[in-house]
Amino acid sequence: MATDTNWAGTYTFRANRIHHPQSIDEARKLVASAPKIRGLGTKHSFHDIADTVELVSLDRVDPAISVDHETMTASAGASLRYGELARELHEAGVALHNMGSLPHISIGGATATATHGSGNGNRNLSSAVCGLEFITSEGEVLQVDRSHPDFDGMVVHLGGLGLVTRLTFDVQPTYDVCQEVLEDLPWEALLDDPKAVFGSGYSVSIFTRFKEPTAGLLWRKHRLTEGWDRETIDDFGARRATVDRHPVDGFSGAVCTPQLLQPGPWCDRLPYFDLDQIPATGAEIQSEYMIDMALASEALAALKAFEPRLSDALMVSELRTIAADDLWLSTAYQRDTIGLHFTWHKDPAKVEAAVPEVEALLAPFAPRAHWGKVFQLDAAALEQRYPRCDDFRQLRRRFDPRGVFANPFLERVGLV
Ligand SMILES: Cc1cc2nc3c(=O)[nH]c(=O)nc-3n(C[C@H](O)[C@H](O)[C@H](O)COP(=O)(O)OP(=O)(O)OC[C@H]3O[C@@H](n4cnc5c(N)ncnc54)[C@H](O)[C@@H]3O)c2cc1C
Repeated sequence: MATDTNWAGTYTFRANRIHHPQSIDEARKLVASAPKIRGLGTKHSFHDIADTVELVSLDRVDPAISVDHETMTASAGASLRYGELARELHEAGVALHNMGSLPHISIGGATATATHGSGNGNRNLSSAVCGLEFITSEGEVLQVDRSHPDFDGMVVHLGGLGLVTRLTFDVQPTYDVCQEVLEDLPWEALLDDPKAVFGSGYSVSIFTRFKEPTAGLLWRKHRLTEGWDRETIDDFGARRATVDRHPVDGFSGAVCTPQLLQPGPWCDRLPYFDLDQIPATGAEIQSEYMIDMALASEALAALKAFEPRLSDALMVSELRTIAADDLWLSTAYQRDTIGLHFTWHKDPAKVEAAVPEVEALLAPFAPRAHWGKVFQLDAAALEQRYPRCDDFRQLRRRFDPRGVFANPFLERVGLV
């Protein structure tokens, strides 16, 4: 019995076994003979999305990172963590376009759920995937790239298409970034023109509890290009912090990546936390809803008015933006998006009560839930909000005729 839990310690896997094959050939044999099996990443999702009868972690297979400077692409094994890939890429003189808040999450698991960072012009991390190698339910190794007619349906796969062994990413020449945090962003500035506030840096987040008189921390990451001039950037009435901050009040900024406009490589500035540090607060549960950026102001005003109902359960909210893409199950599918993220206190009963209330409040904005975080939206709601659900179901059945990669989560969200 694999009595293993997710990162938050809020979900105990029911799988009988977690396999750690030493080679792709060994993984292939495992998949071909298993009635129900799935890939497992770094277990950072907040529910049963990865769970089934048997699990496979590829953490003992050499990730064999390779960079092709001619095509400006880089490939690596699926279990590699983003922070490990990023360091190697930087050493090789290349970079990814963006990163999530944690460098500890696997590239296979993160891209399977449309994990994202922030930036009005930045698509999610899955959008940089230009090639996939995976093992089908028949134990066959397939390689696909953007020339495959259904590639857009394959990248955000929720573990349902096969066991992904390698991913290839678009890369670009390495670049430097500096971070700054501004305090007490006035609500009026944010509600007046959220696109301008989120457009005031390469990657911008706001950390708020919705209840203080101001909107909270404006966290900006600036990509340093020739001629970049801090003094031309609007502060929207917020005050520049004078010490490194942590996204959650009361926690030390010492575990966070350097701020105060100190320049550094993209891989040491785009995530909030250092790969060698214990990230976040550890005692939390997360939910996140993606809505059309055009509705951001209205949705934020609704949440602000609703705040007294949230405050008991909410630790902090992070607001981010994600550029539209064409990946069928992407939370930013064909719409520029604002992500309304909730870091809840680790109190499952309170979260279970708060989540449907938030979903009811946001229903008029047709939210799409982050696949890896806690949500209760049902299959009918998801069907309306992801126009390619049926295409994904057909694709899934084509690659997995035995139903090996289907699991209770996929059944619940109507994607089997
Ligand atoms: C502290 C914290 C911070 C986070 N920050 C962000 C953030 O900044 N932005 C954001 O968008 N999300 C964020 N998340 C959510 C997180 O990125 C997603 O839940 C992500 O999917 C977790 O990746 P994982 O490697 O842990 O995968 P797991 O949780 O282990 O698995 C996720 C899914 O991927 C599948 N999978 C994993 N590996 C494979 C494989 N090799 N082959 C086939 N399927 C596979 C699993 O079956 C499952 O369906 C955060 C989560 C935590 C706990």
